Amino acid sequence: MCGIIGIIGTPDAAREAFLGLTTLQHRGQDGAGILTYDADGFHRVKNLGLVESVFTRDNISTLTGNTALGHARYSTVGKGDIIDVQPFLLSYPFGMGMIHNGNIVNFADLKKKLRTQSKRHLLTHSDTEVVLNLFAEGLVQATDGGTDLTFEHICSAVQKIFSQVNGAYSIISMIADHGLVAFRDPDGLRPLIWGKKHVGERAGDTDGALDSGEAHMFASESVALGFMGYEAIRDVQPGEVVFITNEGKVYNKVLTKKEARHCMFEWVYFASPESIIDKVPVYGARINLGKSLARLLKKQIEEKKIEADLVVPVPETSRIAAIALAEELDIPYREVLIKNRYIKRTFILDSQEKRQKAVSLKLSPVRSEIEGKRVILVDDSIVRGTTSKKIIELVRQAGASKVYFVSTCPPIQHPCYYGIDFPSPQELIASKRNVAEIEKYLDADAVIYQDMKGLKEAIGGNPCMACLDGKYPTDVSAGTRFSEDRTTDRNQAQRRTAGI
Ligand code: SF4
Repeated sequence: MCGIIGIIGTPDAAREAFLGLTTLQHRGQDGAGILTYDADGFHRVKNLGLVESVFTRDNISTLTGNTALGHARYSTVGKGDIIDVQPFLLSYPFGMGMIHNGNIVNFADLKKKLRTQSKRHLLTHSDTEVVLNLFAEGLVQATDGGTDLTFEHICSAVQKIFSQVNGAYSIISMIADHGLVAFRDPDGLRPLIWGKKHVGERAGDTDGALDSGEAHMFASESVALGFMGYEAIRDVQPGEVVFITNEGKVYNKVLTKKEARHCMFEWVYFASPESIIDKVPVYGARINLGKSLARLLKKQIEEKKIEADLVVPVPETSRIAAIALAEELDIPYREVLIKNRYIKRTFILDSQEKRQKAVSLKLSPVRSEIEGKRVILVDDSIVRGTTSKKIIELVRQAGASKVYFVSTCPPIQHPCYYGIDFPSPQELIASKRNVAEIEKYLDADAVIYQDMKGLKEAIGGNPCMACLDGKYPTDVSAGTRFSEDRTTDRNQAQRRTAGI
């Protein structure tokens, strides 16, 4: 999972990309980069770390041009090295940059094919580089190696990607001297929204404005558009390609039409609450999740299986659902787990050891409010169970007499091959344990999960829920190799860290 931003039509493109990335920081904290283009060529700054730590006033001033790509990285493929930090560049054809949010399931096969058949040797460990090379190859074929580039050529190249690349990919590409291209995989697994704003008519050849006087932005989430004053046009449709030329002409076409299978985890956990993804507000979906949980809990409360004094959210994501749950159950809502804001999101951290350490550094319970109370703890999900176990322990140590653990997401039982970092079933607590066993492992007085019906109704449509029900929207047979590669990469990284 990553945060991506593409901007065209403003001399402020790099600064806007930087500020936009700060609103998408929750989507990836491993590295960040911005690429711009002008008459002097490409300009790029990228590094490992948070957006705020990668960019300075000085290095942003080197990012000149009216077109920018910005990326906040969450590494699932690759080894966490700077070489894998996006945006990526390719010199031929035209000069191209690319950023990507998602995961390519058949990455290993495509990489091999590029190497053996096309003699293209990849320079990074990232699946994005595979898509960039396929796009380049498609453009060379479509243009027959010529210098003219039309929207039809771009559609032909993207269609080739759709026919070969299996997985989740929201992509933004910059083509030197031509414009910005955005496309989304035919299942629409990862979000991509499109917006524009008026920046004034073109005053000269170098002022950065388009002839239309409008700047366009594509972003992973609408929060980035709003923050920079862009008005949302709409989400890029699954299977659609959009091309904004340097003159401000806009082309778009849906190349492959299928039923959208947006990832449910965007609404449950990943996205920012102020975002609207595929027309469904994240905040509203989380309220619905809380109301649905209240329906499930009411029965147990009526039967006196659960008697509670407080509803307590595990910050931050579950707060909204917890408020709705408390309102529906008429139980006091208290934010008595205080978060240290300067610790990275636990789930994103890439090793079990780092995650365990982070929980105790991250949350402090308010003993005076918890002591002697029966507490309903609300969290967005239970993935490995590590974090949940530690939080329950913290609340018990603060004097809670009962701890009921509520998850706004149903049990996660299967790996995700589309960009969320739980690839191995052995790591998922719900893959081999029933609820009673999970209660015992977590040391909870009860564990209550959201049900599938409640989740589906909260989001609407027909979202991907493959990590819950095992029904993947694409063929994931190549995914086993992906998991093995991932585990090998992670083990190697841990050995490197341990100095073995
Ligand atoms: S498998 Fe789960 S986390 Fe992965 S895309 Fe589907 S719903 Fe999202």
